[in-house]
Amino acid sequence: MTSIFWAPMALVGGIDHENVSIEASDGKITSVSSGVPVPPGAVAFEGAMVPGLVNAHSHVFHRALRGRATPAGGDFWSWRAGMYELVDHLDPELLEELATATYAEMLAAGITQVGEFHYVHRGPGGVPYTDRNEMAMAIVRAAAATGIRLCLLDTCYLMADVDGTPLQGPQLRFGDGDVDGWSERHGRLADELAGTEVVVGSAIHSVRGVPADAFAQIVEASGPTHVHASEQAAENRACVDRHGVTPIGLLARHGGLRPGSTVVHAIHVTSGDLEATAGSGASVCVCPTTELDLGDGTADVAAFAAAGIDVSLGSDSHAVVDLLVEARMVEWNDRARYGRRGVHASAALWDMATSAGARSLGCERWGLEVGAPADFAVLDTRRPATAGIDRSDMLLSAATAGDVMATVVGGEIVCEAGEHHTLGSVSSRLASAIGRSIT
Ligand SMILES: [Zn+2]
Repeated sequence: MTSIFWAPMALVGGIDHENVSIEASDGKITSVSSGVPVPPGAVAFEGAMVPGLVNAHSHVFHRALRGRATPAGGDFWSWRAGMYELVDHLDPELLEELATATYAEMLAAGITQVGEFHYVHRGPGGVPYTDRNEMAMAIVRAAAATGIRLCLLDTCYLMADVDGTPLQGPQLRFGDGDVDGWSERHGRLADELAGTEVVVGSAIHSVRGVPADAFAQIVEASGPTHVHASEQAAENRACVDRHGVTPIGLLARHGGLRPGSTVVHAIHVTSGDLEATAGSGASVCVCPTTELDLGDGTADVAAFAAAGIDVSLGSDSHAVVDLLVEARMVEWNDRARYGRRGVHASAALWDMATSAGARSLGCERWGLEVGAPADFAVLDTRRPATAGIDRSDMLLSAATAGDVMATVVGGEIVCEAGEHHTLGSVSSRLASAIGRSIT
């Protein structure tokens, strides 16, 4: 099936183009033409077409915690305690309902691909489900129901702290016994999803969650590998006390980084960490709104860019689901850090919000170009926040997820004005799922 779309503005190759027509066939872009009138039969948007936004780091069920768990004096660790309470009564049905609603929210925000860092594998008390991948398959069904592209980062999480303390309480649901147990379950998941649209990758939860001698085995699994590192200063101190080296240093020393690896957060890093990351060919994913929401700190993205490290973006805990805001926060955090404007070029920020995320999730072709998936978001330029902006590249300085008027995945419109084409009102879905999650 062939579809044609047209808009007065479009972001092509990181640059604004006028009067752009995009033709899609069998889910891929087959032609991109600039300076053309509306073709016969085209869907014409009064807005700007930009590549599908890519959310490289998600824990989908955390969405239920938005607007909650913020006691006075709280921090990352008290937030985590609230998250563990939620984990306690998560079951496959509730996870599927929450994930369906949250992926629909992402699509409404122009996000067409997500990296799901999935770590709740077992039932309450650490009892495995009969199908050991029942929770993972709940996420797969949710993604399929919404149409979002899914990279499932199947996470290994074996211990409670860097000193080898065993998992306890709600954490028992994250475990696989040992790394061979993870490999066995992971292999079954990869087999089950072979030949589907889902990309299966792996994840090392963190240097707190996985012993160093297991890193290489996880990284050697097929697909991309993600790892949380250096989100919290306390995590760095504990790692240095135990191993005499930073978390990224420990990952590098034990084969935990390679091309195709992504280090998530990388806030409290040393010059040696930067060198180790760049030297390994790994990339970095930052999640500015979550990192600010939790009081983690801010990553020095300019330093990564200067070291030649690819940077992608994630909404992590979903305090905010808005990749345009995440990209803007990268620039604003670095403006505050360096005391000047324009630290990152517009094209570089758009790359972080789109193609770099796709690369981090194992997808090399992305953007409004022939051969790439026909995924894009349309930003409304008639809204209060965007009125008067006449270049698609400049929309990153003002637009938010609320300005996304349509989202196209594989050449089909899946969301328009907050309504999912098959699921209906995204906000109703979220309210219902979150209402069931919080008791
Ligand atoms: Zn995370």
